[in-house]
Amino acid sequence: MEMKKKTLIKRAQDLAKPFRVTDGDGFRLKDFDPGNTLEFGAEDKPRSKEVLTLGIETLAELQDKLYAQNRWAVLLIFQAMDAAGKDGAIKHVMSGLNPQGCQVYSFKAPSAEDLDHDYLWRCMKSLPERGRIGIFNRSYYEEVLVVRVHPQILANQRIPQSLVTKDIWKERFQDIRAFESYLARNGVAICKFFLNVSKKEQKRRFLERLETPDKNWKFSANDAKERDFWDDYMNAYEDMIRSTAAEHAPWYVVPADNKWFTRVVVAAAVVSTLDTLDLAYPKVSKEKLKELAAVKKTLVGGKAEAAAAS
Ligand code: ATP
Ligand code: MG
Repeated sequence: MEMKKKTLIKRAQDLAKPFRVTDGDGFRLKDFDPGNTLEFGAEDKPRSKEVLTLGIETLAELQDKLYAQNRWAVLLIFQAMDAAGKDGAIKHVMSGLNPQGCQVYSFKAPSAEDLDHDYLWRCMKSLPERGRIGIFNRSYYEEVLVVRVHPQILANQRIPQSLVTKDIWKERFQDIRAFESYLARNGVAICKFFLNVSKKEQKRRFLERLETPDKNWKFSANDAKERDFWDDYMNAYEDMIRSTAAEHAPWYVVPADNKWFTRVVVAAAVVSTLDTLDLAYPKVSKEKLKELAAVKKTLVGGKAEAAAAS
């Protein structure tokens, strides 16, 4: 059993590793193929479901220890273009988790209250507690993505003019790196996902959303407009990964043209991350063991009493 678990974790590490970026130097998005499925062919799709199920079971066991140990917090960040499959990946991978130990936050366009603060404010309020897994569906990284692609959004942030210079993106990367180091030093394990979908596959999924009544709600005209800015977004994503990948806060550039493969890689990466934390159930002290033995004795005795009484 223990052996089987070790094999599974090793398998997860092997699956996730090709997509992990821990050092941004020389990172180029074009080296990562959105259609990559490693050694899995389309005929392996059913088998990938089994792999995913095993991954999810392993994840549930690790989460149970994370919660019991109550020392580490885990922060999973998801960023992607529309229709890359963020929601589906989150839904599938987290399906086996104990909801009590898991929190999901979706960051939409900031509210008036958000805009009255610095940009990390709303994210800091939603950081996971120790023992828990927090999922950010979008995050402060939007501040170097959509905000960079659309200068009007930055203008609306009411930052004092003298502070908005040509260095602003470099400064934001610096601040994000500092923030993530701070979190890591406080026991927050960070794992970041860029679901890398191709422009062609996005178009196919948009058309599917338009043609399927049950998927219509997922489509907004604005999503299609953002396609005009595709290259700007890709440049922003590349610069973001280059500038913020770190050993303690890796980016996973996950191929996203095949949903089944995306989910397997995300599950594998989360398993690998949890495995690095040395999770274990808290050791019970001698006194506590004695106490438990005493309680057991009373309970067993009580059962005998009840049987005698009836
Ligand atoms: P779905 O897959 O359901 O469309 P979504 O995450 O795209 O989910 P939306 O309701 O479309 O959700 O809203 C997210 C929008 O909010 C995105 O266009 C995103 O760029 C924008 N957004 C998120 N954070 C910020 C931010 N800090 N500043 C400006 N816009 C932001
Ligand atoms: Mg959207």
